[in-house]
Amino acid sequence: MNFSKELFSEIKPVRINFILVIFFGLLAAVTTILLALSLSKIINGVFLSKQTLQDVSTLIVIFIALALVKSLLSWCQHFFSTRLVSFIKKSFRKKLLIKIEEIGPLTLKSERTGELVNTLLNGVDKLEDYFSKFLPQMFLSVFIPILILVFVFPLDWLTAIVFIVTAPIIPIFMFLIGSIAEKMNKKQWQTLSRMSAYFLDVLQGLPTLKLFNRTQEAIDKINDFSNLFRIKTLNVLKIAFLSALVLEVTATLSVAVIAVEIGLRLLNGNFVFSDALFILIIAPEFYLPLRILGTTYHAGMEGIAAFERIKDVLNYNTTKSNFTSNTKDDFTFAQNNSIILKNISYTYSDRATKALDNISLTIETNKVTAIVGASGSGKTTLMNILLRFFNPTEGNIFIGETDLHLVKKETWRENLAWLPQNPHLFSKSIRENLQIANVRATFEEVVNAAKIAHIHEFILDLPNGYNTLVGENGAKLSGGEIQRIALARAYLRNSPLLFVDEPTANLDPIVEEEIVKDMYKLFSGKTVLIIAHRLNTIIKADKIIVMKDGRIEESGNHNELILTNGYYKKLLDAHGEIIC
Ligand code: ADP
Ligand code: MG
Repeated sequence: MNFSKELFSEIKPVRINFILVIFFGLLAAVTTILLALSLSKIINGVFLSKQTLQDVSTLIVIFIALALVKSLLSWCQHFFSTRLVSFIKKSFRKKLLIKIEEIGPLTLKSERTGELVNTLLNGVDKLEDYFSKFLPQMFLSVFIPILILVFVFPLDWLTAIVFIVTAPIIPIFMFLIGSIAEKMNKKQWQTLSRMSAYFLDVLQGLPTLKLFNRTQEAIDKINDFSNLFRIKTLNVLKIAFLSALVLEVTATLSVAVIAVEIGLRLLNGNFVFSDALFILIIAPEFYLPLRILGTTYHAGMEGIAAFERIKDVLNYNTTKSNFTSNTKDDFTFAQNNSIILKNISYTYSDRATKALDNISLTIETNKVTAIVGASGSGKTTLMNILLRFFNPTEGNIFIGETDLHLVKKETWRENLAWLPQNPHLFSKSIRENLQIANVRATFEEVVNAAKIAHIHEFILDLPNGYNTLVGENGAKLSGGEIQRIALARAYLRNSPLLFVDEPTANLDPIVEEEIVKDMYKLFSGKTVLIIAHRLNTIIKADKIIVMKDGRIEESGNHNELILTNGYYKKLLDAHGEIIC
Protein backbone atom coordinates (compact mmCIF):
# COMPACT_ATOMS: atom_id res chain seq x y z
CA MET A 1 0.00 0.00 0.00
CA ASN A 2 0.80 3.60 -0.23
CA PHE A 3 2.09 3.88 3.24
CA SER A 4 5.53 4.98 4.24
CA LYS A 5 6.56 4.30 7.81
CA GLU A 6 9.27 6.90 7.55
CA LEU A 7 6.84 9.54 6.42
CA PHE A 8 4.36 8.52 9.09
CA SER A 9 6.98 8.99 11.79
CA GLU A 10 7.15 12.67 10.80
CA ILE A 11 3.85 13.09 12.58
CA LYS A 12 5.33 12.26 15.98
CA PRO A 13 5.84 15.84 17.20
CA VAL A 14 2.25 16.73 16.27
CA ARG A 15 0.61 13.39 17.10
CA ILE A 16 -2.14 15.06 19.09
CA ASN A 17 -3.12 17.05 16.03
CA PHE A 18 -3.31 13.91 13.94
CA ILE A 19 -5.31 12.06 16.56
CA LEU A 20 -7.71 15.00 16.74
CA VAL A 21 -8.16 14.96 12.97
CA ILE A 22 -9.19 11.31 13.15
CA PHE A 23 -11.25 11.86 16.28
CA PHE A 24 -13.30 14.64 14.70
CA GLY A 25 -13.62 12.60 11.52
CA LEU A 26 -15.08 9.74 13.56
CA LEU A 27 -17.40 12.04 15.51
CA ALA A 28 -18.62 13.44 12.21
CA ALA A 29 -19.32 9.87 11.09
CA VAL A 30 -21.31 9.22 14.28
CA THR A 31 -23.42 12.31 13.61
CA THR A 32 -23.97 11.10 10.05
CA ILE A 33 -25.34 7.83 11.43
CA LEU A 34 -27.57 9.70 13.87
CA LEU A 35 -28.73 11.96 11.05
CA ALA A 36 -29.69 8.91 9.01
CA LEU A 37 -31.50 7.44 12.01
CA SER A 38 -33.50 10.60 12.70
CA LEU A 39 -34.29 11.10 9.02
CA SER A 40 -35.60 7.57 8.67
CA LYS A 41 -37.69 8.03 11.81
CA ILE A 42 -39.16 11.32 10.51
CA ILE A 43 -40.04 9.87 7.11
CA ASN A 44 -41.41 6.70 8.64
CA GLY A 45 -43.53 8.74 11.06
CA VAL A 46 -44.99 11.06 8.45
CA PHE A 47 -45.56 8.44 5.73
CA LEU A 48 -46.57 5.31 7.53
CA SER A 49 -47.61 6.25 11.06
CA LYS A 50 -49.55 9.29 9.79
CA GLN A 51 -47.88 11.61 12.30
CA THR A 52 -48.32 15.39 12.00
CA LEU A 53 -45.59 18.03 11.80
CA GLN A 54 -46.16 18.65 15.50
CA ASP A 55 -45.49 15.02 16.31
CA VAL A 56 -42.15 14.94 14.50
CA SER A 57 -41.04 18.49 15.41
CA THR A 58 -38.63 17.31 18.14
CA LEU A 59 -37.02 14.92 15.66
CA ILE A 60 -36.73 17.72 13.11
CA VAL A 61 -35.03 19.96 15.66
CA ILE A 62 -32.65 17.13 16.53
CA PHE A 63 -31.99 16.60 12.83
CA ILE A 64 -31.14 20.27 12.27
CA ALA A 65 -28.99 20.39 15.40
CA LEU A 66 -27.11 17.27 14.25
CA ALA A 67 -26.52 18.81 10.83
CA LEU A 68 -25.02 21.89 12.50
CA VAL A 69 -22.87 19.77 14.79
CA LYS A 70 -21.66 17.82 11.79
CA SER A 71 -20.50 20.99 9.99
CA LEU A 72 -18.78 22.13 13.15
CA LEU A 73 -17.00 18.79 13.46
CA SER A 74 -15.89 18.91 9.82
CA TRP A 75 -14.58 22.40 10.46
CA CYS A 76 -12.59 21.15 13.47
CA GLN A 77 -11.23 18.26 11.43
CA HIS A 78 -10.14 20.69 8.75
CA PHE A 79 -8.63 23.07 11.25
CA PHE A 80 -6.42 20.44 12.82
CA SER A 81 -5.38 18.92 9.53
CA THR A 82 -4.30 22.37 8.29
CA ARG A 83 -2.26 22.87 11.44
CA LEU A 84 -0.73 19.45 11.06
CA VAL A 85 0.23 20.09 7.46
CA SER A 86 1.69 23.52 8.08
CA PHE A 87 3.82 22.14 10.87
CA ILE A 88 5.07 19.26 8.76
CA LYS A 89 5.79 21.43 5.75
CA LYS A 90 7.67 23.91 7.88
CA SER A 91 9.69 21.17 9.52
CA PHE A 92 10.62 19.61 6.15
CA ARG A 93 11.58 22.99 4.67
CA LYS A 94 13.68 23.73 7.73
CA LYS A 95 15.39 20.36 7.58
CA LEU A 96 16.09 20.82 3.87
CA LEU A 97 17.46 24.32 4.34
CA ILE A 98 19.68 23.23 7.21
CA LYS A 99 20.92 20.36 5.09
CA ILE A 100 21.57 22.63 2.13
CA GLU A 101 23.51 24.96 4.40
CA GLU A 102 25.45 22.01 5.72
CA ILE A 103 26.22 20.68 2.26
CA GLY A 104 27.60 24.12 1.56
CA PRO A 105 27.48 26.41 -1.43
CA LEU A 106 30.40 24.71 -3.11
CA THR A 107 29.16 21.15 -3.25
CA LEU A 108 25.76 22.45 -4.22
CA LYS A 109 27.22 23.99 -7.32
CA SER A 110 27.45 20.50 -8.76
CA GLU A 111 23.76 19.87 -7.98
CA ARG A 112 21.23 21.28 -10.34
CA THR A 113 19.66 24.27 -8.68
CA GLY A 114 16.40 23.88 -10.56
CA GLU A 115 15.91 20.39 -9.24
CA LEU A 116 16.70 21.45 -5.71
CA VAL A 117 14.27 24.34 -5.89
CA ASN A 118 11.65 21.97 -7.25
CA THR A 119 12.21 19.65 -4.32
CA LEU A 120 12.16 22.44 -1.77
CA LEU A 121 9.00 24.07 -3.07
CA ASN A 122 6.87 21.65 -5.11
CA GLY A 123 8.15 18.55 -3.38
CA VAL A 124 7.22 19.79 0.05
CA ASP A 125 3.86 21.04 -1.23
CA LYS A 126 3.07 17.58 -2.55
CA LEU A 127 3.32 16.32 1.01
CA GLU A 128 0.38 18.55 1.92
CA ASP A 129 -2.26 16.29 0.42
CA TYR A 130 -0.52 13.24 1.76
CA PHE A 131 -0.78 14.42 5.33
CA SER A 132 -4.05 16.33 5.21
CA LYS A 133 -6.06 13.94 3.05
CA PHE A 134 -4.53 10.58 2.39
CA LEU A 135 -3.14 9.66 5.76
CA PRO A 136 -6.21 10.57 7.91
CA GLN A 137 -8.41 8.94 5.29
CA MET A 138 -6.47 5.71 5.60
CA PHE A 139 -7.48 5.47 9.22
CA LEU A 140 -11.00 6.77 8.71
CA SER A 141 -11.68 4.29 5.91
CA VAL A 142 -11.05 1.52 8.42
CA PHE A 143 -12.84 3.00 11.42
CA ILE A 144 -15.96 4.53 9.84
CA PRO A 145 -17.14 1.36 8.05
CA ILE A 146 -16.59 -0.61 11.27
CA LEU A 147 -18.63 2.00 13.14
CA ILE A 148 -21.47 1.72 10.64
CA LEU A 149 -21.32 -2.06 10.84
CA VAL A 150 -21.76 -1.81 14.60
CA PHE A 151 -25.03 0.07 14.04
CA VAL A 152 -26.27 -2.03 11.16
CA PHE A 153 -25.48 -5.52 12.44
CA PRO A 154 -28.10 -5.59 15.23
CA LEU A 155 -30.74 -4.27 12.81
CA ASP A 156 -30.02 -6.54 9.87
CA TRP A 157 -27.25 -9.12 9.77
CA LEU A 158 -27.82 -9.91 6.10
CA THR A 159 -26.94 -6.37 4.99
CA ALA A 160 -23.98 -6.41 7.35
CA ILE A 161 -22.69 -9.49 5.54
CA VAL A 162 -23.15 -7.81 2.14
CA PHE A 163 -21.14 -4.89 3.54
CA ILE A 164 -18.38 -7.17 4.78
CA VAL A 165 -18.16 -9.07 1.50
CA THR A 166 -18.21 -6.05 -0.83
CA ALA A 167 -16.06 -3.64 1.17
CA PRO A 168 -12.69 -5.32 0.47
CA ILE A 169 -13.32 -5.22 -3.29
CA ILE A 170 -12.71 -1.48 -3.32
CA PRO A 171 -9.25 -1.53 -1.70
CA ILE A 172 -8.27 -4.54 -3.80
CA PHE A 173 -9.07 -2.71 -7.03
CA MET A 174 -7.43 0.37 -5.70
CA PHE A 175 -4.26 -1.52 -4.94
CA LEU A 176 -4.16 -3.21 -8.34
CA ILE A 177 -4.64 -0.01 -10.28
CA GLY A 178 -2.68 2.06 -7.81
CA SER A 179 0.51 0.05 -8.08
CA ILE A 180 0.61 0.70 -11.82
CA ALA A 181 -0.12 4.37 -11.27
CA GLU A 182 2.56 4.61 -8.63
CA LYS A 183 5.25 3.57 -11.07
CA MET A 184 3.98 6.09 -13.59
CA ASN A 185 3.84 8.75 -10.96
CA LYS A 186 7.47 8.27 -10.03
CA LYS A 187 8.44 8.64 -13.66
CA GLN A 188 6.33 11.77 -13.94
CA TRP A 189 8.04 13.29 -10.92
CA GLN A 190 11.45 12.54 -12.41
CA THR A 191 10.44 14.20 -15.65
CA LEU A 192 9.21 17.28 -13.80
CA SER A 193 12.43 17.53 -11.83
CA ARG A 194 14.54 17.13 -14.92
CA MET A 195 12.46 19.73 -16.71
CA SER A 196 12.81 22.23 -13.85
CA ALA A 197 16.52 21.62 -13.69
CA TYR A 198 16.96 22.11 -17.40
CA PHE A 199 14.76 25.19 -17.45
CA LEU A 200 16.72 26.93 -14.72
CA ASP A 201 20.03 25.96 -16.30
CA VAL A 202 18.88 27.51 -19.54
CA LEU A 203 17.70 30.67 -17.79
CA GLN A 204 20.98 31.05 -15.97
CA GLY A 205 22.99 30.37 -19.09
CA LEU A 206 20.88 32.57 -21.34
CA PRO A 207 23.62 35.14 -22.04
CA THR A 208 26.02 32.35 -23.03
CA LEU A 209 23.40 30.66 -25.21
CA LYS A 210 22.64 33.97 -26.90
CA LEU A 211 26.31 34.66 -27.43
CA PHE A 212 26.81 31.39 -29.25
CA ASN A 213 23.49 31.63 -31.02
CA ARG A 214 22.23 28.39 -29.51
CA THR A 215 18.90 29.58 -28.14
CA GLN A 216 16.80 27.68 -30.67
CA GLU A 217 18.23 24.37 -29.50
CA ALA A 218 17.36 25.23 -25.92
CA ILE A 219 13.83 26.23 -26.93
CA ASP A 220 13.39 22.95 -28.81
CA LYS A 221 14.64 20.97 -25.87
CA ILE A 222 12.31 22.74 -23.44
CA ASN A 223 9.52 22.05 -25.91
CA ASP A 224 10.39 18.35 -25.98
CA PHE A 225 10.53 18.23 -22.20
CA SER A 226 7.14 19.94 -21.88
CA ASN A 227 5.59 17.50 -24.34
CA LEU A 228 7.06 14.54 -22.56
CA PHE A 229 5.76 15.88 -19.27
CA ARG A 230 2.30 16.45 -20.73
CA ILE A 231 2.13 12.89 -22.06
CA LYS A 232 3.33 11.41 -18.78
CA THR A 233 0.87 13.54 -16.80
CA LEU A 234 -2.01 12.46 -19.00
CA ASN A 235 -1.00 8.82 -18.62
CA VAL A 236 -1.09 9.16 -14.88
CA LEU A 237 -4.42 10.95 -15.04
CA LYS A 238 -5.87 8.26 -17.29
CA ILE A 239 -5.10 5.67 -14.66
CA ALA A 240 -6.39 7.93 -11.90
CA PHE A 241 -9.70 8.44 -13.73
CA LEU A 242 -9.99 4.76 -14.51
CA SER A 243 -9.49 3.89 -10.87
CA ALA A 244 -12.11 6.48 -9.84
CA LEU A 245 -14.56 4.93 -12.29
CA VAL A 246 -13.95 1.42 -11.00
CA LEU A 247 -14.42 2.58 -7.42
CA GLU A 248 -17.66 4.41 -8.18
CA VAL A 249 -19.08 1.47 -10.10
CA THR A 250 -18.20 -1.00 -7.35
CA ALA A 251 -19.69 1.21 -4.65
CA THR A 252 -22.86 1.92 -6.64
CA LEU A 253 -23.37 -1.75 -7.49
CA SER A 254 -22.95 -2.72 -3.86
CA VAL A 255 -25.54 -0.17 -2.77
CA ALA A 256 -27.83 -1.48 -5.49
CA VAL A 257 -27.45 -5.05 -4.22
CA ILE A 258 -28.41 -3.88 -0.73
CA ALA A 259 -31.39 -1.92 -2.05
CA VAL A 260 -32.70 -4.95 -3.94
CA GLU A 261 -32.12 -7.30 -1.02
CA ILE A 262 -33.89 -4.93 1.40
CA GLY A 263 -36.68 -4.12 -1.06
CA LEU A 264 -37.54 -7.79 -1.58
CA ARG A 265 -37.79 -8.40 2.14
CA LEU A 266 -39.93 -5.27 2.59
CA LEU A 267 -42.32 -6.56 -0.09
CA ASN A 268 -42.60 -9.85 1.76
CA GLY A 269 -43.44 -7.81 4.82
CA ASN A 270 -40.77 -9.22 7.04
CA PHE A 271 -38.80 -6.03 7.57
CA VAL A 272 -39.58 -2.80 9.45
CA PHE A 273 -39.75 0.16 7.09
CA SER A 274 -37.85 2.65 9.30
CA ASP A 275 -34.93 0.19 9.70
CA ALA A 276 -34.89 -0.50 5.98
CA LEU A 277 -34.87 3.22 5.22
CA PHE A 278 -32.05 3.82 7.71
CA ILE A 279 -29.94 1.08 6.13
CA LEU A 280 -30.60 2.42 2.68
CA ILE A 281 -29.58 5.95 3.70
CA ILE A 282 -26.47 4.78 5.51
CA ALA A 283 -25.32 2.28 2.84
CA PRO A 284 -23.61 4.89 0.58
CA GLU A 285 -21.96 6.34 3.69
CA PHE A 286 -20.43 2.93 4.33
CA TYR A 287 -18.59 3.01 1.00
CA LEU A 288 -17.86 6.74 1.02
CA PRO A 289 -14.65 6.65 3.12
CA LEU A 290 -13.26 3.93 0.85
CA ARG A 291 -14.15 5.93 -2.22
CA ILE A 292 -12.52 9.03 -0.78
CA LEU A 293 -9.48 6.95 0.02
CA GLY A 294 -9.44 5.96 -3.64
CA THR A 295 -9.41 9.55 -4.80
CA THR A 296 -6.79 10.63 -2.28
CA TYR A 297 -4.66 7.62 -3.18
CA HIS A 298 -3.29 9.61 -6.07
CA ALA A 299 -2.32 12.46 -3.75
CA GLY A 300 -0.72 9.91 -1.47
CA MET A 301 1.42 8.56 -4.28
CA GLU A 302 2.56 11.99 -5.29
CA GLY A 303 3.56 12.63 -1.72
CA ILE A 304 5.61 9.44 -1.54
CA ALA A 305 7.34 10.14 -4.85
CA ALA A 306 8.24 13.64 -3.69
CA PHE A 307 9.39 12.29 -0.36
CA GLU A 308 11.87 9.98 -2.08
CA ARG A 309 13.58 12.96 -3.62
CA ILE A 310 13.48 14.93 -0.37
CA LYS A 311 15.12 11.96 1.30
CA ASP A 312 17.88 11.96 -1.32
CA VAL A 313 18.70 15.56 -0.45
CA LEU A 314 18.43 14.95 3.30
CA ASN A 315 20.67 11.88 3.07
CA TYR A 316 23.25 13.73 1.04
CA ASN A 317 26.54 12.52 2.39
CA THR A 318 28.29 15.29 4.26
CA THR A 319 30.26 13.05 6.54
CA LYS A 320 33.27 12.83 4.31
CA SER A 321 35.48 14.33 6.93
CA ASN A 322 36.60 12.92 10.21
CA PHE A 323 35.71 16.08 12.11
CA THR A 324 32.44 16.16 13.90
CA SER A 325 32.60 18.20 17.03
CA ASN A 326 32.25 21.92 16.36
CA THR A 327 31.12 22.88 19.76
CA LYS A 328 33.17 25.79 20.99
CA ASP A 329 31.21 29.00 20.63
CA ASP A 330 33.08 31.34 22.96
CA PHE A 331 35.92 31.77 20.50
CA THR A 332 37.38 35.11 19.42
CA PHE A 333 40.30 35.48 17.14
CA ALA A 334 43.00 37.12 19.24
CA GLN A 335 45.34 39.56 17.49
CA ASN A 336 48.42 37.62 18.54
CA ASN A 337 47.32 34.24 17.22
CA SER A 338 48.61 32.90 13.94
CA ILE A 339 46.68 30.46 11.81
CA ILE A 340 48.69 27.28 11.56
CA LEU A 341 47.90 24.69 8.92
CA LYS A 342 49.39 21.26 9.58
CA ASN A 343 49.58 18.67 6.80
CA ILE A 344 46.33 19.70 5.19
CA SER A 345 45.13 17.55 2.31
CA TYR A 346 41.88 17.64 0.44
CA THR A 347 40.44 15.38 -2.24
CA TYR A 348 37.17 16.19 -4.00
CA SER A 349 34.92 13.17 -3.84
CA ASP A 350 34.73 12.84 -7.62
CA ARG A 351 38.45 13.25 -8.21
CA ALA A 352 41.30 10.78 -8.01
CA THR A 353 44.08 13.30 -7.38
CA LYS A 354 44.41 15.49 -4.33
CA ALA A 355 43.42 19.13 -4.79
CA LEU A 356 45.58 19.94 -1.77
CA ASP A 357 48.50 17.73 -0.89
CA ASN A 358 50.08 17.99 2.54
CA ILE A 359 50.02 21.75 2.98
CA SER A 360 51.76 23.10 6.09
CA LEU A 361 51.84 26.82 6.51
CA THR A 362 51.60 29.62 9.05
CA ILE A 363 49.50 32.68 8.37
CA GLU A 364 50.96 35.29 10.66
CA THR A 365 48.93 37.90 12.52
CA ASN A 366 48.71 41.41 11.21
CA LYS A 367 50.55 40.42 8.04
CA VAL A 368 49.41 40.05 4.47
CA THR A 369 49.94 36.56 3.12
CA ALA A 370 49.41 36.17 -0.61
CA ILE A 371 48.75 32.86 -2.34
CA VAL A 372 49.78 32.67 -5.96
CA GLY A 373 49.83 29.84 -8.44
CA ALA A 374 48.56 28.78 -11.83
CA SER A 375 44.91 27.93 -12.37
CA GLY A 376 43.97 24.65 -10.71
CA SER A 377 46.83 24.75 -8.23
CA GLY A 378 44.44 24.64 -5.27
CA LYS A 379 44.26 28.27 -4.11
CA THR A 380 40.47 28.46 -3.96
CA THR A 381 40.24 25.06 -2.29
CA LEU A 382 42.63 26.22 0.42
CA MET A 383 40.65 29.39 1.06
CA ASN A 384 37.36 27.50 1.11
CA ILE A 385 38.75 25.21 3.78
CA LEU A 386 39.75 28.24 5.85
CA LEU A 387 36.28 29.73 5.30
CA ARG A 388 34.96 26.38 6.58
CA PHE A 389 32.86 25.65 3.50
CA PHE A 390 34.21 22.15 3.88
CA ASN A 391 36.63 20.29 6.11
CA PRO A 392 40.05 19.02 5.04
CA THR A 393 40.25 15.30 4.37
CA GLU A 394 43.46 15.16 6.37
CA GLY A 395 45.38 17.47 8.66
CA ASN A 396 44.56 20.10 11.24
CA ILE A 397 44.23 23.83 11.49
CA PHE A 398 45.15 25.63 14.69
CA ILE A 399 44.42 29.16 15.74
CA GLY A 400 47.21 29.64 18.21
CA GLU A 401 46.60 26.63 20.45
CA THR A 402 42.96 26.06 19.53
CA ASP A 403 41.99 23.38 17.03
CA LEU A 404 39.77 25.21 14.54
CA HIS A 405 37.43 22.25 14.30
CA LEU A 406 36.42 22.65 17.88
CA VAL A 407 35.12 26.11 17.03
CA LYS A 408 31.60 26.48 15.68
CA LYS A 409 31.53 27.48 12.03
CA GLU A 410 29.29 30.46 12.74
CA THR A 411 31.55 31.66 15.56
CA TRP A 412 34.60 31.36 13.35
CA ARG A 413 32.93 33.33 10.57
CA GLU A 414 32.00 36.12 12.96
CA ASN A 415 35.71 36.84 13.20
CA LEU A 416 36.32 37.19 9.52
CA ALA A 417 35.41 39.13 6.44
CA TRP A 418 35.48 37.64 2.98
CA LEU A 419 35.97 39.55 -0.20
CA PRO A 420 35.05 37.12 -2.95
CA GLN A 421 36.21 37.37 -6.52
CA ASN A 422 32.73 38.20 -7.78
CA PRO A 423 30.92 39.95 -4.95
CA HIS A 424 27.18 39.62 -5.09
CA LEU A 425 24.90 42.61 -4.82
CA PHE A 426 21.30 41.92 -3.84
CA SER A 427 18.21 43.64 -5.27
CA LYS A 428 18.10 46.04 -2.36
CA SER A 429 19.25 49.59 -1.77
CA ILE A 430 22.96 50.41 -1.75
CA ARG A 431 22.72 51.11 1.96
CA GLU A 432 21.19 47.71 2.71
CA ASN A 433 23.77 46.10 0.47
CA LEU A 434 26.49 47.65 2.59
CA GLN A 435 24.82 46.86 5.87
CA ILE A 436 24.73 43.16 5.04
CA ALA A 437 28.29 43.08 6.37
CA ASN A 438 27.24 44.53 9.70
CA VAL A 439 23.57 44.96 10.47
CA ARG A 440 24.31 47.08 13.50
CA ALA A 441 26.25 49.69 11.52
CA THR A 442 24.81 53.21 11.73
CA PHE A 443 24.31 55.34 8.65
CA GLU A 444 27.39 57.42 9.56
CA GLU A 445 29.47 54.27 9.69
CA VAL A 446 28.10 53.18 6.31
CA VAL A 447 28.98 56.54 4.78
CA ASN A 448 32.41 56.47 6.37
CA ALA A 449 33.11 53.02 4.95
CA ALA A 450 31.97 54.19 1.52
CA LYS A 451 34.28 57.19 1.75
CA ILE A 452 37.27 55.02 2.61
CA ALA A 453 36.44 52.70 -0.28
CA HIS A 454 36.17 55.78 -2.55
CA ILE A 455 32.61 55.03 -3.60
CA HIS A 456 30.83 57.72 -1.56
CA GLU A 457 30.87 60.37 -4.33
CA PHE A 458 29.59 57.86 -6.85
CA ILE A 459 26.72 56.85 -4.58
CA LEU A 460 25.74 60.48 -4.00
CA ASP A 461 25.51 60.96 -7.77
CA LEU A 462 22.93 58.17 -8.04
CA PRO A 463 19.25 59.24 -8.29
CA ASN A 464 18.39 58.30 -4.71
CA GLY A 465 21.84 58.32 -3.17
CA TYR A 466 22.24 55.55 -0.62
CA ASN A 467 18.63 54.48 -1.11
CA THR A 468 19.09 53.71 -4.81
CA LEU A 469 18.04 50.18 -5.60
CA VAL A 470 20.64 47.93 -7.13
CA GLY A 471 19.45 45.69 -9.96
CA GLU A 472 19.67 41.93 -9.64
CA ASN A 473 23.34 40.98 -9.52
CA GLY A 474 24.21 44.68 -9.45
CA ALA A 475 23.56 45.00 -13.15
CA LYS A 476 23.61 48.77 -12.98
CA LEU A 477 27.09 49.02 -11.51
CA SER A 478 30.43 48.44 -13.20
CA GLY A 479 32.91 45.78 -12.04
CA GLY A 480 35.10 48.38 -10.32
CA GLU A 481 32.11 49.92 -8.52
CA ILE A 482 30.90 46.55 -7.28
CA GLN A 483 34.43 45.83 -6.08
CA ARG A 484 34.45 49.08 -4.15
CA ILE A 485 31.09 48.31 -2.56
CA ALA A 486 32.58 44.98 -1.50
CA LEU A 487 35.57 46.83 -0.05
CA ALA A 488 33.26 49.13 1.89
CA ARG A 489 31.47 46.05 3.20
CA ALA A 490 34.77 44.65 4.45
CA TYR A 491 35.50 47.96 6.21
CA LEU A 492 32.12 47.88 7.88
CA ARG A 493 32.67 44.35 8.98
CA ASN A 494 35.69 45.49 10.95
CA SER A 495 36.91 41.98 11.63
CA PRO A 496 40.44 41.01 12.63
CA LEU A 497 40.68 38.45 9.83
CA LEU A 498 40.27 39.09 6.15
CA PHE A 499 40.13 36.63 3.29
CA VAL A 500 40.34 38.08 -0.18
CA ASP A 501 40.01 36.51 -3.60
CA GLU A 502 41.37 39.20 -5.82
CA PRO A 503 39.38 39.99 -8.93
CA THR A 504 41.11 39.28 -12.20
CA ALA A 505 38.82 40.91 -14.68
CA ASN A 506 36.66 43.98 -15.20
CA LEU A 507 39.12 46.50 -13.87
CA ASP A 508 41.10 48.92 -16.01
CA PRO A 509 44.72 49.48 -14.89
CA ILE A 510 44.13 52.90 -13.29
CA VAL A 511 41.08 51.76 -11.33
CA GLU A 512 42.95 48.62 -10.40
CA GLU A 513 45.88 50.50 -8.94
CA GLU A 514 43.56 52.69 -6.88
CA ILE A 515 41.60 49.71 -5.61
CA VAL A 516 44.80 47.90 -4.63
CA LYS A 517 45.84 51.01 -2.70
CA ASP A 518 42.46 51.18 -0.92
CA MET A 519 42.63 47.47 -0.28
CA TYR A 520 46.01 47.76 1.44
CA LYS A 521 44.65 50.57 3.58
CA LEU A 522 41.97 48.15 4.70
CA PHE A 523 44.60 45.48 5.35
CA SER A 524 46.54 47.45 7.95
CA GLY A 525 46.24 45.96 11.42
CA LYS A 526 44.53 42.83 10.11
CA THR A 527 45.53 39.29 9.38
CA VAL A 528 45.02 38.89 5.67
CA LEU A 529 45.08 35.95 3.31
CA ILE A 530 44.73 36.99 -0.30
CA ILE A 531 44.61 34.93 -3.46
CA ALA A 532 46.57 37.36 -5.59
CA HIS A 533 46.77 37.67 -9.32
CA ARG A 534 48.25 41.11 -9.83
CA LEU A 535 51.82 42.12 -9.43
CA ASN A 536 50.72 45.32 -7.66
CA THR A 537 49.13 43.32 -4.90
CA ILE A 538 51.74 40.58 -4.72
CA ILE A 539 54.73 42.90 -4.41
CA LYS A 540 53.32 44.52 -1.28
CA ALA A 541 52.50 41.25 0.50
CA ASP A 542 54.59 40.33 3.53
CA LYS A 543 54.75 36.71 2.51
CA ILE A 544 53.98 34.97 -0.75
CA ILE A 545 52.99 31.31 -0.89
CA VAL A 546 53.57 29.87 -4.35
CA MET A 547 51.36 26.87 -5.08
CA LYS A 548 51.72 24.21 -7.75
CA ASP A 549 49.51 21.15 -8.17
CA GLY A 550 48.14 21.32 -4.64
CA ARG A 551 51.55 21.70 -2.99
CA ILE A 552 53.54 24.65 -1.74
CA GLU A 553 56.38 25.09 -4.20
CA GLU A 554 58.06 28.14 -2.67
CA SER A 555 57.46 30.87 -0.15
CA GLY A 556 59.00 34.18 0.86
CA ASN A 557 58.55 37.85 -0.05
CA HIS A 558 58.72 39.13 -3.62
CA ASN A 559 62.37 40.11 -3.55
CA GLU A 560 63.49 36.84 -2.00
CA LEU A 561 61.51 34.81 -4.48
CA ILE A 562 62.84 36.75 -7.46
CA LEU A 563 66.38 36.12 -6.24
CA THR A 564 65.90 32.35 -6.00
CA ASN A 565 65.05 32.41 -9.69
CA GLY A 566 62.63 29.52 -9.34
CA TYR A 567 59.00 28.70 -10.17
CA TYR A 568 57.71 32.09 -8.96
CA LYS A 569 59.93 33.92 -11.41
CA LYS A 570 58.74 31.65 -14.22
CA LEU A 571 55.10 32.32 -13.32
CA LEU A 572 55.71 36.06 -13.46
CA ASP A 573 57.75 35.93 -16.61
CA ALA A 574 55.16 33.99 -18.45
CA HIS A 575 52.35 36.46 -17.90
CA GLY A 576 53.70 39.70 -16.47
CA GLU A 577 51.07 38.95 -13.92
CA ILE A 578 49.89 35.60 -12.61
CA ILE A 579 46.74 34.69 -14.39
CA CYS A 580 44.72 32.24 -12.40
P1 ADP B 1 42.66 27.38 -8.19
O1 ADP B 1 41.76 28.20 -7.35
O2 ADP B 1 44.10 27.52 -7.85
O3 ADP B 1 42.43 27.61 -9.63
P2 ADP B 1 41.12 25.16 -7.25
O4 ADP B 1 41.30 25.13 -5.80
O5 ADP B 1 39.88 25.77 -7.76
O6 ADP B 1 42.38 25.86 -7.92
O7 ADP B 1 41.22 23.71 -7.82
C1 ADP B 1 42.19 22.76 -7.41
C2 ADP B 1 41.89 21.42 -8.06
O8 ADP B 1 40.66 20.92 -7.57
C3 ADP B 1 41.72 21.51 -9.57
O9 ADP B 1 42.29 20.36 -10.12
C4 ADP B 1 40.27 21.53 -9.79
O10 ADP B 1 39.93 20.94 -11.01
C5 ADP B 1 39.74 20.71 -8.62
N1 ADP B 1 38.42 21.19 -8.18
C6 ADP B 1 38.11 22.44 -7.80
N2 ADP B 1 36.82 22.52 -7.42
C7 ADP B 1 36.29 21.28 -7.57
C8 ADP B 1 35.00 20.69 -7.34
N3 ADP B 1 33.98 21.38 -6.86
N4 ADP B 1 34.83 19.37 -7.60
C9 ADP B 1 35.87 18.63 -8.08
N5 ADP B 1 37.09 19.12 -8.29
C10 ADP B 1 37.33 20.42 -8.05
MG1 MG C 1 40.37 29.68 -8.06
